[in-house]
Amino acid sequence: MSSISPSSKTDLKSLTKTELFEFCTELGLPRFRTDQIFQWLYQKGASTFDEMTNLSKDLRSKLSEVATINRIELSQQQRSKDGTIKFLFKLTDEDKDFKVEAVLIPDFYDDGVANRLTVCVSSQVGCVFGCAFCATGKMGFFRNLSHGEIVDQVQYINEISLQEYDKKITNIVYMGMGEPLHNYTAVVQSAAIISDPLGIDLSPKRITVSTVGLTKQIKKIADDAEPFNLAISLHAPDDLKRDKIMPINSSMNLENLEEAVRYYHRKTERPLTYEYLLFDNFNDSKEDARNLAKIAKWAPSKINIIMYNNVAGVELQRAREDRLNTFMKELKRNDVRATVRRSRGDDIDAGCGQLAIREGAPKGKTIATV
Ligand code: SF4
Repeated sequence: MSSISPSSKTDLKSLTKTELFEFCTELGLPRFRTDQIFQWLYQKGASTFDEMTNLSKDLRSKLSEVATINRIELSQQQRSKDGTIKFLFKLTDEDKDFKVEAVLIPDFYDDGVANRLTVCVSSQVGCVFGCAFCATGKMGFFRNLSHGEIVDQVQYINEISLQEYDKKITNIVYMGMGEPLHNYTAVVQSAAIISDPLGIDLSPKRITVSTVGLTKQIKKIADDAEPFNLAISLHAPDDLKRDKIMPINSSMNLENLEEAVRYYHRKTERPLTYEYLLFDNFNDSKEDARNLAKIAKWAPSKINIIMYNNVAGVELQRAREDRLNTFMKELKRNDVRATVRRSRGDDIDAGCGQLAIREGAPKGKTIATV
């Protein structure tokens, strides 16, 4: 159980549902009260006990004596011409100015009505893995988010989605700041709350957790029968190239990843997704496409080819359209299911970590120092 409350009071958002039940039982409350409190916290977004109007006044005042409700706060918001909205949230640490990003990405029908409303959430403050193309990787790692802080991002953006588009969010991807599987417990707990009927009530089929390729945790997801989708950030089709841009590859290379992916599929029988950022003249040749096709056949999968949002100070650049077209044709020729994902929010700091870096984040731990 993690508590970020500065006082001795218990931060209810740091408790899992089971822990909340235990907490309520200790206070002598019946089961249905736990459900009501859980619903206030995660469905109705209460930040004070006074808002919990179906609890008696006495109970509300008792709760405020022994517990708190920490919520992250909005610090900044940027809106792109294409409808993408990026949020910078301030965490509640008393002595640190930690901020994390989340993004709301709308997809529209031809008539302009929102179809898919995807939220991309952060799971850590910074990241230890230092991928060469990633703004967050340049910050280093500071701390894990609690499950409550992850759910807060979703809840906040869900409220904005209802205001802006008159529609609840439809999908969640854990692809913001941080490596989700490096914060396994909080990520799994947050996904459980997001899909809980008394929480945000979003089907786990609409939740995707991405990983840079942490093989032990990929197997653990399969062993634990976690119901959400898995995406692997691949970004290079061979060890030589992956070593150059993703330091994790030196300790967990493609052979290790293949073994974990095959294990995952054997146990879950579920397909998975590979994310592949296409970089100009680095991983966008026909030969790269053929190597990628071999990886795609480790297990049933689809590939998202992502057009990179260039990041200041990063040499790797977005691939050219003609090279993208040739690359896609080669994938098709090799019977690979692949979709191009266009960059969103080009006119704002939409690449993961860009906004936090602009805010002057200090330097944290890196893969070499942990
Ligand atoms: S791409 Fe993901 S794993 Fe790599 S540095 Fe960025 S946040 Fe970390």
